[in-house]
Amino acid sequence: MAKWEERWHPLRQEWVIIAAHRQDRPWHGDTVGKSAPEAREYVKDCYLCPGNERVRGHRNDHYQGIFVFDNDHPCVGPDAPVDLQTPAGIFRNRPANGLARVVCYTPKHNSSLSELQVPQIVDLLNAWSGQYTELGARPDVNHVLVFENRGEVVGVSNTHPHCQIYGTNFVFKTIETEAIAARRHFDETGRVLFQDVLQAEHDDGRRIVYKNSSAVAFVPYFARYAYECYVAPLETHARLADLSKSELTDFAEALKALLVRYDNLWKMPFPYVMTLHHAPTDDGDYGTFHFHIEFHPPLRKPNLLKYLAGPEIGGGNFLSDTLPEEKAEELRNSGGSLG
Ligand SMILES: [Zn+2]
Ligand SMILES: [Zn+2]
Repeated sequence: MAKWEERWHPLRQEWVIIAAHRQDRPWHGDTVGKSAPEAREYVKDCYLCPGNERVRGHRNDHYQGIFVFDNDHPCVGPDAPVDLQTPAGIFRNRPANGLARVVCYTPKHNSSLSELQVPQIVDLLNAWSGQYTELGARPDVNHVLVFENRGEVVGVSNTHPHCQIYGTNFVFKTIETEAIAARRHFDETGRVLFQDVLQAEHDDGRRIVYKNSSAVAFVPYFARYAYECYVAPLETHARLADLSKSELTDFAEALKALLVRYDNLWKMPFPYVMTLHHAPTDDGDYGTFHFHIEFHPPLRKPNLLKYLAGPEIGGGNFLSDTLPEEKAEELRNSGGSLG
């Protein structure tokens, strides 16, 4: 099997260099400390725990399930200045309209998405759908970015399980690229691009981490990060809200199956950036867009960061030191219960 090659990323329309033959280089980069999980269910000075006061004086509900509130430090928001100075020449600017929110998954400070039960995950999926629909209906919101940063290595200081939502006036670049690629593929072949990806993953089989009757979790052939995973329904739906009740349950099970494997892999809370990839909420035609969730874990080994450097930051394409087939096998084999 070739361990040194380039792989085409059909969703991002770019090449990924797989250079797994270099894994045994003597220098492996900096290590990062393991953070011990918080032992307590309630933390007095956590701004996300039930009943606590937040930075600008608002007090959280004494919530039992999921709790959503407007971000106290929004990067986009209704209060963004509208009277902007016009920049010189070619430069352009505009108000940072939109809405930023925070979603607490559970009142339990020491829990995590991986530890939620499947019905609780279904509740969360429904909450995401509701937010997408509500924010997406606003005329100033053309895209709803739902994401969770997990772990100190991706800059999270508060371990209370939560995600963020940015409703923005622009469509985030990755989603825009995926939507264009999906449309072009459909025009050229009459098929849904993501279905062709799923078919090829199914035919190969080596990178499937978990599958049930209507959902799948897999390391894509073209993974840019070690342990990068997609979770997707098998049927094409442009948005989470279009999944049936049974599809939602299957999807929640696939999500949990993956998250448990992540945490089991190195017996630590597995850091990642999780992003929902659904259709933008502008007036475009997204019938060929296939909803999925992407996980981008920043670590290559326990305590070993994947650095973004020359190829990634400088050039804009990824160089991966790991083989997707091997990483998928590791994840498959780390199943079982948390502990
Ligand atoms: Zn908390
Ligand atoms: Zn995607």
